Amino acid sequence: MFSERSAFVRGLEIGGKAPVRIQTTYDRPFGAESTDDILRHISSLSAMGCELIRFAFASKSDARYFSEIAEHSPIPVVADIHFDYRMAILAIESGADKIRINPGNIGAEWKTREIVKAALDHDTAIRIGLNSGSLPEGSGSVPERMVGSALGYIELFESMGFRNIVVSLKSSDGAETAEAARLFASESGYPQHIGVTEAGDSVIAAVRSAWTLGSLLSSGIGDTIRISMTGSIDDEVAAAAELLRITGLSRKGVRIVSCPRCGRHSFDTIGFLKENRNRLLALDKNITVAIMGCLVNGPGEAGYADYAITGYGDKVYIYRKGSLVLKTSSDKASDALFEVLGDE
Ligand code: SF4
Repeated sequence: MFSERSAFVRGLEIGGKAPVRIQTTYDRPFGAESTDDILRHISSLSAMGCELIRFAFASKSDARYFSEIAEHSPIPVVADIHFDYRMAILAIESGADKIRINPGNIGAEWKTREIVKAALDHDTAIRIGLNSGSLPEGSGSVPERMVGSALGYIELFESMGFRNIVVSLKSSDGAETAEAARLFASESGYPQHIGVTEAGDSVIAAVRSAWTLGSLLSSGIGDTIRISMTGSIDDEVAAAAELLRITGLSRKGVRIVSCPRCGRHSFDTIGFLKENRNRLLALDKNITVAIMGCLVNGPGEAGYADYAITGYGDKVYIYRKGSLVLKTSSDKASDALFEVLGDE
């Protein structure tokens, strides 16, 4: 979207004039669930707007699972490598569309060169991912040292003819993350993946990330984003999709509004959202859906929405542009809403 340069990850453009991409990281080790279950989950994340999925690639035994997922995933697959250059090469040979390394953690320069050679041979992108916690000692502020390190690694990669690069400079401190991203953008045209690392639970992480990433995106900085959280990866993708929506960078999908609830509430908005949010976010419709707690104010307050749902006791009411279109019972509420939305 914003960078002078682009990277290509299985044909997906990052940077240049491309839209800002949403990324998340799978939160379970290989083997904890079947490959089919992982692929199903990736498909549902993809429907919610996720365009890149990263996996920790820690040992030789991961290659079997990783290659199967890379072959069948509907979105590009990224391998996260720490320390061992042989794992990076194995991930590349196993079909990684992109790998993420911190060359500072890989050790001797020749090891990084071996990785870059393998990436060139397989047309694999590399994210140079630096975190404030793993920087070498040196002079200057943390953002200055992160940017200095990243530029040094880029020079090494370019000397080998490798330019399919994305850079990330992360800190658990939002201000430090933003400063590093701004400084890098002023010195380099390579695309950036932006995110606040170790950001806290879902609520805290969403607020911290919205403040940091929102200000960067509004200044034209950031080509892929992750709202990392100690929470579900579905929440990460939902939060990132909403951030792109409120910054005006995407208009895709359903806009969900829901009332905060008060003593009048009778319809279980919390349970309804928990059950249906991901399904609503996966709908390819540019509409607003309101989930309201009561009949007293709900339909009126949601009169601007394309669709609204609320209820009283066991009765559930669905509205289209403020007019009642369907009455049903609470156990049929989800199916009834999606039926009405399907007719739209
Ligand atoms: S819609 Fe009803 S339950 Fe929700 S905040 Fe308004 S008055 Fe309270």
